Amino acid sequence: MSESYAFIGLGHLGGNLAASLIRNGFAVTVFDRDPAAVERLVALGATAANSPAEAAARAGNAITCLPSPKVSEAVLAGPGGLLEGLPEGGSWIEMSTNGRDEIVRLAALASAKGIDTLECPVTGGVHLAAVGKITALVGGNAALYARHRPAIEAMCAKSFLMGPVGSAAVIKVITNMLAFIHLVAAGEALMLARQGGLDLAQSYHAIVASSGNSFVHETESQLILNGSYDIGFTVDLALKDLGFALAMAEQSGVPLDLASRVNAIFEQGKAAYGGSAWSTQIVKLLEDAVGTDLRAPGFPAKLEV
Ligand code: NAD
Repeated sequence: MSESYAFIGLGHLGGNLAASLIRNGFAVTVFDRDPAAVERLVALGATAANSPAEAAARAGNAITCLPSPKVSEAVLAGPGGLLEGLPEGGSWIEMSTNGRDEIVRLAALASAKGIDTLECPVTGGVHLAAVGKITALVGGNAALYARHRPAIEAMCAKSFLMGPVGSAAVIKVITNMLAFIHLVAAGEALMLARQGGLDLAQSYHAIVASSGNSFVHETESQLILNGSYDIGFTVDLALKDLGFALAMAEQSGVPLDLASRVNAIFEQGKAAYGGSAWSTQIVKLLEDAVGTDLRAPGFPAKLEV
């Protein structure tokens, strides 16, 4: 019989991950502080619980996809939290993005109660999560990974076991740092094309087929050219991840010139548009500075797979 799962945190990412589990026949018990998010998953076949503890007790294993380590700690170890409900030998699978120190510390809290932790942050964006094709970066014990692999494969097209708990956080923070650098670079590239008198749609396609291409250009530049900027990932989440990268760099003595500059640009973006603006909107800083936008016909408002 397949494992069943509690799923806590049904936002832009978690809602899609939980839906993939349901689509693949897993029994899923959900909790979110937002009742509308719970209702969306219940309509797809999930069962609702009144607290993380209740959801975890019913399912025996719990998955979280939450906005910050502080919230993950409250949901894991706070009153009514997962550790009050999970049976000994149950698993906690953390799919939120954390820094290494944070996930190692939270896993120790779980371990003290006899709960095993698998960290499983994901990468690729909500459009890939929506079709079960996002990539999982896994940290933890190989046997635990094997136990939960069917669930991971229901949500993700690819998964990489990176090493013990904490190692997935390192690679996740690295790949997001690259993505934010690429995003700012893609905006600068498109603006140079615009000001150089080029057709922006043709420039987009030429870059896709050239040595300057990136995953971020292929995906997020389409949302810039549409003008929706709707990537389903906020400026606040970007700043969280850049903060983890800068902290890791400081601890390990690696000077991050580019990431530091991009972090400052995202701080400026937050001041201008707010932390809940889509991260892709960071490019609007340049549009506002130059006094022209980067629109072109034929690009979608949301990414399609
Ligand atoms: P989100 O803000 O859309 O969703 C967070 C959800 O958690 C919301 O539904 C919110 O109501 C719920 N929540 C907050 N506090 C809670 C609490 N105390 N108890 C129960 N529920 C609570 O965020 P998201 O974009 O889905 O991101 C979630 C995590 O995934 C973050 O760690 C983010 O860095 C990571 N991530 C997001 C993406 C993406 O593209 N959105 C991609 C990769 C990783």
